[in-house]
Amino acid sequence: MFMPVGTAATVKGLTQDALEELGAGIILANTYHLYLRPGHELIRKLGGLHAFMAWRNAILTDSGGYQVFSLSELRKITDEGVRFRSHLDGSEHLLTPEKAAEIQLALGSDIAMVLDECIETPAPRDVAQAALKRTTDWARRARRYFLDSVSRNGNPQQWQFGIVQGATFADLRRESARQLLELDFPGYAVGGLAVGEPHEVTCEMAAEVTALLPKERPRYLMGVGRPEQLADYVARGIDMMDCVLPTRAARHACLYTSEGRVLIKNARYIEDQRPIDPNCKCSVCRRYTRAYLRHLFAAGEITAAILATHHNVRFYLDIMGQIREAITFGHLANFATELRARYVAGPA
Ligand SMILES: [Zn+2]
Repeated sequence: MFMPVGTAATVKGLTQDALEELGAGIILANTYHLYLRPGHELIRKLGGLHAFMAWRNAILTDSGGYQVFSLSELRKITDEGVRFRSHLDGSEHLLTPEKAAEIQLALGSDIAMVLDECIETPAPRDVAQAALKRTTDWARRARRYFLDSVSRNGNPQQWQFGIVQGATFADLRRESARQLLELDFPGYAVGGLAVGEPHEVTCEMAAEVTALLPKERPRYLMGVGRPEQLADYVARGIDMMDCVLPTRAARHACLYTSEGRVLIKNARYIEDQRPIDPNCKCSVCRRYTRAYLRHLFAAGEITAAILATHHNVRFYLDIMGQIREAITFGHLANFATELRARYVAGPA
């Protein structure tokens, strides 16, 4: 499955109706953003995130850690947790493994992630090793908090996932996976990848980890990827992915098609009467031309982002459908090769 990113309880440019029409079975929401605004207690009071945003399908929430490390100011990491200042109003907060679990229980997401330590890459081995140790300690605390809450308040219909770290060191990745397996999570994520290292290295690390994780539990590679890479990750045992790329690129006039990327602001599309992607069956491609999309972007109309996002998300979800079909018929490797070839040959 591929999860469109709905940072602040909305996938930018798409209504929940549109997401349902596109067949999005699960979206990702960001704990950091929702904790700061409107606040997890308000969302709990209003019936949880599903009720608040009127979304029936599944929601995965991240732990907030990644955003604390990438967005907030004055962050200070200790064994207790990470202290930071809000990027919105400068207020000071402490995010601990317990707090991250508590916020996500209040949000009532279907899948909650444990707090992990995200490090800058490329990382020296000793830094990666220290972050791995802290990530395991934090995962243990988050698991204990979650299970205590379940035994006190009943099963909230939430799954808690652990996150494997270890940068680009294969042995550290294996060590992290083995330690998390002892905590018996219903699903496992692979974090800290696709952050600048070569695609081959991302694939290699993913393969190291999935070789150890149980096949019958979901394995989630966080923050990937480009359309032509999705099948590569699935071929290495990955079941779940999320990425801002289809939605963010759409807002920047970059459209993904079965023949490669279309940068729709380009002058060559001024009189182009074809749909964005002649092979796409989405409602945007059935109705509008490239020339019209180009005009909307040139004029700065918000409809431009809405239509482009609709198509791009459909394109990603279609690829996932094709991947599932390729698995069924046993030709995933061929499919991955063809997908990459089309992208290299396609229009820029
Ligand atoms: Zn389309």
